[in-house]
Formats: sequence, C-alpha cells, structure tokens
Amino acid sequence: MKVYKFGGASVKDAAAVKNVARILEQDQKEKKVVVISAMGKTTNMLEEVHLRRLEMGNWKDAFEKVANYHNQMAEDLGLSEGALFQDFQDLLVQMDTDFAKPLSGNTALEYDRVVGQGEVLSTLLISAYLEQVGLNVEWVDVRNVIKTNNEHRRAEVDWERSQKAADILLAHLEEDTERTIITQGFIAQSKLGNTTTLGREGSDFSAAIIAYLLNAGSVTIWKDVPGMLNADPKWFNNTVELPHISYNECIELSYYGASVIHPKTLKPLQNKNIPLYVKSFNDVSLKGTVIDATSDYDTLVPMYIFKPNQVLLSIKSRDFSFIVEKNLSDIFDMISESGLRVNMMQNSAISFSIVVDQDDSLIKGLREMLQVAYEVKYNDGLDLLTIRHYDEATVKSLTTGKEILMEQRSRQTLRFVLR
Ligand code: ASP
Ligand code: MG
Repeated sequence: MKVYKFGGASVKDAAAVKNVARILEQDQKEKKVVVISAMGKTTNMLEEVHLRRLEMGNWKDAFEKVANYHNQMAEDLGLSEGALFQDFQDLLVQMDTDFAKPLSGNTALEYDRVVGQGEVLSTLLISAYLEQVGLNVEWVDVRNVIKTNNEHRRAEVDWERSQKAADILLAHLEEDTERTIITQGFIAQSKLGNTTTLGREGSDFSAAIIAYLLNAGSVTIWKDVPGMLNADPKWFNNTVELPHISYNECIELSYYGASVIHPKTLKPLQNKNIPLYVKSFNDVSLKGTVIDATSDYDTLVPMYIFKPNQVLLSIKSRDFSFIVEKNLSDIFDMISESGLRVNMMQNSAISFSIVVDQDDSLIKGLREMLQVAYEVKYNDGLDLLTIRHYDEATVKSLTTGKEILMEQRSRQTLRFVLR
C-alpha cells in the first residue's frame, strides 16, 4: 500500500483537482491512502473566521468567502448530487450553525474547531468528484485514526491509541482491495473527542503518521516543484535537483530552515524505513526526489538555506560577570517561555548570543524577562545563511561585500549571520 499526499496548492482550483484524478487514475494497481489538505488558501481564510469570532466581529463575511470558494469549486467540477456531495453541503450548513454558538473560553480549541474544517470540506468535495469520474473511493474521517493528547493547535500524537484505531482501518482495507481511501491531513482527535490540529503545514506529517501506522510501502508528496532542490529558487540562481538524499540529510536541511517538507515528517518514516518520494504534480514523468536511508549521494552538491528577517540578541550580565552554566540555564528557561525558536547561538566569556526570527511581540516578551538581570543588545534586518557541504569558492561568492556578524563552522555545515 502507498500513501499519497496532496497539499493545498495541488487542489486549489478545478483544474488542479482534475489533475489529482488523473494522477490517481494512471496507477490503480496498488492500494492507496490519499491524504489531502484544505484547498488553496482555505486555512488562512478560516483563521480569519476564527479571529473575528474571538473579537466578536463579523465572522459571517469571512465564512461566506470560504463557502463561496468551495461552492464555486463544486460548480466548476460539475458536482450536484451524490451522498458525498450532500455531506459537503450539510457540512457548510453545520459550520454556519456551529460558529454562531458562544465561545468556550479555550481559544486554541476554538481555533481547531473552526480551522480544522478546511480539510473536511476539501476531502468531501474531492471524493465526490473522484467518484463522479468513476474512481472507487472511500472517504475516511482521519479523526477516527490519528489520536492525540488534549493540546490544541499543536497536538502531540498518541501513538498507542492511534495504532489501535489504525489496525481497525487496516483490517477494513484488507477486506476490499479495490478502493482508494481519501482522508484529511492536519487534523486529528483529542482524548476528549475534540478536533485537534498538528500545526500549520502539518499534512505532510499526517501522511507520515498514516504510513507508519499502516506499514505503507512508500509515501509520495505531490508538489508544485520538480522535487527537492539544493536551494530555494526564490533566493538562489542555478539551483539543482536532488535526486536522492537520506532521511538524516533531509532532517538537517529542514532543521536549518529548508521549507519543502514539514520537519516532523521524516522521523516516523525513518523508524520504519519507508521511502519518501517528492514528485511534481505538474509533470508526473519527472523523477523527483527519493528520501530514504541511503546516504551515498548526500554530499555531492552544496546546499544553501537562506533565512531573511533575522534578529541577533546579545545577552550580557549587568555586572559584567562571566556567563556561566547557571546563567545559561536561566536564559534558556526564559527563551523557552518566550515561545521563540533559536535559529543559532554562540557564547563568549561575558556574553551569550542568539539568532531568532523577527517576531516583534515574542522578542519584546523575552527582552522584558531578560532585562531584570541582563543587558540585551539588539541587531535586526539580518540574514542567516547556512551552507551544507560547503566549498571555499561558494562561500566567498556568497559572503563578499557583506558584513559577517557571526560565523559557525563544523565539518559539514557553515553558517553566517550577515548584513
Ligand atoms: N491546511 C493546513 C495548512 O495550510 C495544513 C497543510 O496544508 O499542510 O497549514
Ligand atoms: Mg494548506
């Protein structure tokens, strides 16, 4: 069995959905579980609905945009009947009723309740279409399979409960060899039975969880790129495709900020040695990228990861005493409480420096905590450049004419904070 994952961009309009149908049609030999995200920018639109509900504002207008977008899609796909289409229409009515109910006071739970519906809408609509064009599909509510703790917006998977639930699905799948299962990314179910979400862009992770639970033979992520590249073409010219990299290399790349695959995706796959394919939904004949345990090809080309809008915070004790273990422990506690993620860090005798994304309100919170005992210097508008498998020529070409504020070099990785 294979797992396929289609993201929002690959189902953003009727032409894209038709393309999904073509991809599924061309390969009906093997059983498939297909994980699909919310259509296009639906998740952002639903976040707007959520915010307006919190502010007691006009959420109806924002919701109407979501409804219109999906209704237009249904029309463009020529859908007007069938049980799945009916379920889709009922859900829109249900959402309208649910959103009008008073807020519970748990805003993260409210977020998941609203935002998690994007995936349900998209999978109902797409399943209805796939059925209409003659594919044998079954819509499965992923909340019956992926179980989490009660934390909302970044729920943690409860692997034991999920495995039990997945075994039931697995037995069901074995009964019927023909059917393609269509299910949702991003959402899951808490212990209390509420909808949870796995974090923005979490559908890749959903596909990996399902592959793990069902012992799939592979996962294919269909994307609007030809495969993984050695750099983001938004920032670099002359990018090259990576035909084959290892799980570990891919984990390193996403840790440093490469955004092709959600960072949590690799671990479940690596644990069961399930290969991950990244393929182009625009041109299925392209080979794409294979990610598996083979590391032979990892160091063939240098890879570049660029993160703009970085802030360097240099933290010194007010009495100029050394920064020792106790200080570091206090500082780390405060960073952890601030919610900031440290992209790079370095220490000297009297100062400790961190590089973080420019999130003004989180940084303000951290500075307020720190300033009681520390003096904090602040530099913004910086870039963080990471080069894996560097050579001196590329390093030179990328750093000449730039001011280097911080530099870190290990055997495989070179990192610069630049202005
Ligand atoms: N629809 C969700 C989001 O946009 C999950 C995903 O696309 O992976 O964040
Ligand atoms: Mg999405």
